[in-house]
Order: sequence, then structure tokens, then C-alpha cells
Amino acid sequence: MSKDEQRVTPSEADVFDCRMCGHCCLGEGGIVVSPKDLVRIAEHLSLTPEEFAARHGMWKDGKLFIRVGDDGYCTFFVQGSGCGVHVAKPDICRAWPFFRGNVVDADSLELAKEFCPGIRHDVAHAEFARQGRAYLTENNLLASDPKTEARALILDD
Ligand code: SF4
Ligand code: SF4
Repeated sequence: MSKDEQRVTPSEADVFDCRMCGHCCLGEGGIVVSPKDLVRIAEHLSLTPEEFAARHGMWKDGKLFIRVGDDGYCTFFVQGSGCGVHVAKPDICRAWPFFRGNVVDADSLELAKEFCPGIRHDVAHAEFARQGRAYLTENNLLASDPKTEARALILDD
């Protein structure tokens, strides 16, 4: 298992505790596979990056996304057990709920609390942002290239 694969969900951040509801795995076009994600997830599935992109991905405006199934879920989502590629999932999945919008904007965080039951409902935005920035930094989840990486992982400062 590579160092990247050893990284886990942000359970150490007490503002968040995933309830495995699957809401964040539902919907088209949201799961960006960055170049470094592609290497990790393809290796995990014993595929070449090109094979992974052809079998599981779709390209849009120069970015690779994971395909969505007929049920509307990411094709790696397994009802009852969650992510089928958990140890190798894309950084955008590792980073939730600490997306830029939620980290920089209190109103976005309030909306996210309605969407994601794992976010502690009584947490103040300042504390959420503090823990989020620390989590993203410690786990090397901040991005810098809006052309190939998820904009939600790009903080301005
Ligand atoms: S929406 Fe929140 S609680 Fe539900 S699976 Fe995603 S992170 Fe976990
Ligand atoms: S890769 Fe895993 S965590 Fe990410 S959307 Fe798909 S099933 Fe959910």
C-alpha cells in the first residue's frame, strides 16, 4: 500500500464524522480525477491510467471525472458498504466536507450541514474552517491547477 493509500477520511477532525449515507456519492460530474489521483486509483485497480479513463472516466473541458451509473451514483459506490475504492479514492472525495466553499463561507457550511449528516450541526464556521484547513494541509489535499484539479480544493491563500 502506498503512502497515499494510507490516508483516511477526516475522522480526526471532530467537526465531522461520516454517517455513510452516500449523499456525496450521488450526482453527475462532480468527482474530478486529478493527474495524481489517476495514477493512484489506476494502480489500485491494476489498470493503466489510460485503461482507467476509458473504463471508468469521462472527459469534460480537459478534466477527467468518474462516471455516474444509471442510478445516479458514482459507479464505485456500493449500497450498504460505501466507496468501492476507498483507499485510493480521488482527493476531492477525501477532502469533503472541507471544500473551499464551506471553508471560506459560513452560509455554504450551513447548506452543507443540511446535505451531509456527518457535519456536526452545532459547529461554528470559524472552528470548522480551522480544522478543515489543517486537515487539507496535513493530508496534502490542496490543489493548485484549475485546469486539471478540482476547484473546490483550491484555496486562494
Ligand atoms: S454525505 Fe456526509 S455523511 Fe453522507 S456519506 Fe457523504 S460525507 Fe458521509
Ligand atoms: S470514488 Fe468513492 S467516495 Fe468518491 S464519489 Fe465514488 S464512491 Fe463516493
